Amino acid sequence: MGLFHTGGCKDSCCLKVQNVSVKIGDDQVLQDINLHVHCGQMVALIGPNGAGKSTLLKALLGQREYDGNIMFSVPGAHRVKARIGYVPQSPTFDPGDPLSVADLFACCLSKRPAFLGLNKPLRELVMQCLKRVHGEDLIDKRVGTLSGGELQRVLLALALEPIPNILILDEPLSGVDIEGMTNLMDMLDEIRKNFDLSILMTTHDFSMLPKYADRVVLIDHKVLIQGQPEDVLNSDEFRTAFHMKEGC
Ligand code: ADP
Ligand code: MG
Repeated sequence: MGLFHTGGCKDSCCLKVQNVSVKIGDDQVLQDINLHVHCGQMVALIGPNGAGKSTLLKALLGQREYDGNIMFSVPGAHRVKARIGYVPQSPTFDPGDPLSVADLFACCLSKRPAFLGLNKPLRELVMQCLKRVHGEDLIDKRVGTLSGGELQRVLLALALEPIPNILILDEPLSGVDIEGMTNLMDMLDEIRKNFDLSILMTTHDFSMLPKYADRVVLIDHKVLIQGQPEDVLNSDEFRTAFHMKEGC
């Protein structure tokens, strides 16, 4: 099943996940998940390890079979496919690997073999992409030597070409230091405003949520609670899911 503009959500566009269930072998990994991400919103998907967060993102990306409906709605539009940008959980690169940021973009954006180097128009396109994440200075760095925050910015720049309707990020803050986290969240905030796109991200860094997320969805195979960040973070469901005692 694809993600289509279908019309429907009355006055605004949104990503609608309706009764989505996923079974892997005999395990019911997701059960009747319902959530909406309205255009321009940042929604955080949280839950303990093994809760099914990455599985839900894979279903949205069409990489995992599911029951239920996943739709992208735009008022008045009919069956236009939504463009999704995806930033996977940080891959690791060998520090000795000669692959540069420019090479990585060449592999992803062009059919030209990376060993031929970037021609001028492609290098300009890469610069334009990196500019969106304030990362022009990273173009000739080796990917394996980037810090966690720099690598996330490069992967983000790749996911933004071409500009998607929805940006999906799986644990973008893991492996990023505290200063890098704030920088990355500020950047995501700037990007969603500049390009009017929706962001759905998974994270374990709850301290960032009140400032940056419009909504938080807590899952543990099913939706336990969703709403404003403060309401979810102060809920019994949150404390129970993360085995916290009252007052923590
Ligand atoms: P989260 O991202 O919340 O940590 P995942 O979506 O990665 O959780 O995994 C949810 C559950 O589904 C886990 O129990 C995991 O073992 C199982 N799972 C995920 N992918 C597979 C797979 N390819 N094969 C078998 N089980 C899987
Ligand atoms: Mg995961």
